Formats: sequence, C-alpha cells, structure tokens
Amino acid sequence: MSLLSVVVPCYNEEETVADFYTELMKNEAFFREKDMEVEILYINDGSGDNTVAEIKKLHEKDERVHMVSFSRNFGKEAAMYAGLQKSHGDYVVIMDVDLQDPPSLLPEMIGYLEEGYDSVATRRVSRKGEPPIRSFFARMFYRLMKKISKTEIMDGARDYRLMTRQMVDAILAMPEYNRFTKGIFGWVGFQTKWLEYENVERAKGETKWNFWKLFLYSLDGITAFSTVPLMFASLMGVLFCLLAFGLIIFTIVRKLIFGDPVSGWPSLVCIISLASGVQLFCLGIVGQYLSKTYMEVKNRPIYLVKEEI
Ligand code: UDP
Ligand code: MG
Repeated sequence: MSLLSVVVPCYNEEETVADFYTELMKNEAFFREKDMEVEILYINDGSGDNTVAEIKKLHEKDERVHMVSFSRNFGKEAAMYAGLQKSHGDYVVIMDVDLQDPPSLLPEMIGYLEEGYDSVATRRVSRKGEPPIRSFFARMFYRLMKKISKTEIMDGARDYRLMTRQMVDAILAMPEYNRFTKGIFGWVGFQTKWLEYENVERAKGETKWNFWKLFLYSLDGITAFSTVPLMFASLMGVLFCLLAFGLIIFTIVRKLIFGDPVSGWPSLVCIISLASGVQLFCLGIVGQYLSKTYMEVKNRPIYLVKEEI
C-alpha cells in the first residue's frame, strides 16, 4: 500500500475548506483501485476566521484529515514547507484550497509518477480572470528571471505539484528562510512532467495577494535565485567611472582652449543628480541582498505551530 499526502495551505478559507475535501474525495474510487491511502494535511496559516473549526469538523468525520495550525500568518511559503515536513506520504501533492488546482487532475498526475517521473507540475496557459496589469507584470517577471537566473522558473507555473518522497526530501534539505518555492522546485531538478490547463477561477472567498505583496514576493524570487542585479550594480559603477573620466578630459581641454568661463552650472546639476540617483539605486540593490542575508543569518524558525491534530 502506498500513501499519498495532500498538503493544503489555508489562510482565512472557512468557505472553501469543506468544498475542497468533497472535491478531493471524488477521487476516492481511484485511490482505492490503486490501493492508495490518503492523508490530508490542512495547514492553517494563522487564519482569523473559522477555518480551524471547519477543519476540526472534517477531522471528526474523517480521521485522515489532519491539521497544523500556525501561531500567526507566516505566508504560503511557510505553510507549504510545514506541510512537506509533516507529510509521511510516498507521494506528496501541494494544492490550493480554493479549487484553483483541480483535484480531478490527480489520477493523471499519479499515472505519470508511476511511469517513472519524479514530479508532475502544472502550469496554467491562460491568465483569464486576472487583472491585466497583474498579468503584464507577471509575464515581465518570468521573462526577466529567464534572463538573469540559471534556475528554471516556468511562466504560469502553479504550486500545484505532485512529488515523490525523494524529491520532497531534497526540498526539505533547503531550509532557507526566504523561500521561493517555484525556484526551489527548479533548483532541486529531478525529472518533471508539465501538465497544462486553463486558468480556473477561485471557487469562493477572495485572493490573499495584492499587487504590493506580489511585488515583494517577486523581489524574494530575484534575490533568492539570481545575483545578476549585484553584477549590474558593479557594471554601473564602471560605466560611470568611464563617463567621469571622459568628462574630466573634456573639461581640462576646454579650460586650456577657452580659459575659465564660469558657466556649466545646469550640466553640473544634471550630472550630480544622475550619478547620485544611480548610486542610490545600486546601493539599494546591495541593500536588498544584505537584508535577505540578515534574515537568513538570524536563523529564525520558518513557522511556529500552535496546535496540531
Ligand atoms: N495562503 C496561505 N497563506 C497566505 C496566503 C495564502 O496559506 O498568507 C493560501 C490560500 O489559503 C490558498 C493558497 O495559499 O490556499 C493560494 O492563495 P490565493 O488563492 O489567495 O492566491 P491566488 O490563487 O490568488 O494566487
Ligand atoms: Mg487562488
């Protein structure tokens, strides 16, 4: 008999917790046919609503339902990490509770693992139902990442992924604090089968991500999987030194030929503001890496558990 662990991060999801269970259990016949046991790990990421009560209700009905409840909201990345740590399955799948990751795909995904793949990942081919600016910046982010990072990060990839125990252990061996799972999946490698599907809109409730949160998350992604911005900072430094050198020669030559006319104030202002702008920008880049390093060095736990069933 094999065991499948289903890891489900939940943050203020009282409306969808039960629906998810119902939808997942539509695969029950398939699990039985495969002689597969299932454990469902709801990770309550510090919800302020009745999510915990809903999960407990499910646990009373079905003891295959487990819960890990955080002491506060630690973010989806922490929830996924906790889920992977607490899972026992030979196969582990991470799914959103809002049914945007259709449980009906599971049989096909399990089929691929049995064929010998280490992991089956999903990506959405459309971004239907998403605000256009969000789609635009998302696409820009993936295009940039492709250029500046050696790790493969697929455009439209979801966190919906089925993995073998071996791959889960590889991911758990990366206990970094600034987690960007989409990159970590790519970094650990293993043979991955990609499934594509049309974007499904959230069943109930609201998305927990706004533009600003996504922007900060993208910075996490960049600093975690590329050091090209640091190189960019050094390059800008070299460029500006060259420019300054040219300007010095120009000024000296002009002084020798035309004497000392006290003009050039506007150009001076432009140069000083441009140069200081670039300096601050590059300092900011270094600061980003420094702050991530700072958090990493503190070695704080990625999450804290308040209750477990
Ligand atoms: N989530 C979480 N912690 C958070 C934010 C989100 O555990 O701080 C969970 C959420 O409950 C859901 C999944 O992550 O199961 C995806 O969140 P959401 O649907 O809001 O994101 P979207 O699908 O809009 O990208
Ligand atoms: Mg969602």
